[in-house]
Amino acid sequence: MICYECQQSSNRRDAVALCHHCYAGLCQQHAFVLEDPVTAQYPVCQTVVLPLRARLFLCSTCRTALQQTSDGVRTTPWELPEPEPSGHKQAPPR
Ligand SMILES: [Zn+2]
Ligand SMILES: [Zn+2]
Repeated sequence: MICYECQQSSNRRDAVALCHHCYAGLCQQHAFVLEDPVTAQYPVCQTVVLPLRARLFLCSTCRTALQQTSDGVRTTPWELPEPEPSGHKQAPPR
């Protein structure tokens, strides 16, 4: 299988992973490896995030797209770059 992202730019690289969302083949350069939190349901209506995390590959398209949703932000562990707060900037006291 060829990396889909590379193929878009007329390159041919072997895919090493599949996007978890769109199943596009991805090479090492284009595959984003995420840690997928594993949760366990307990009978007392509690969801606990277990300490070990599974692995999950995403292409850049799906990674960006999933970050749009609040659900994606909540359930995905990647760090979103904080948008610069505009307007109410406070100068640090000296
Ligand atoms: Zn690639
Ligand atoms: Zn994808």
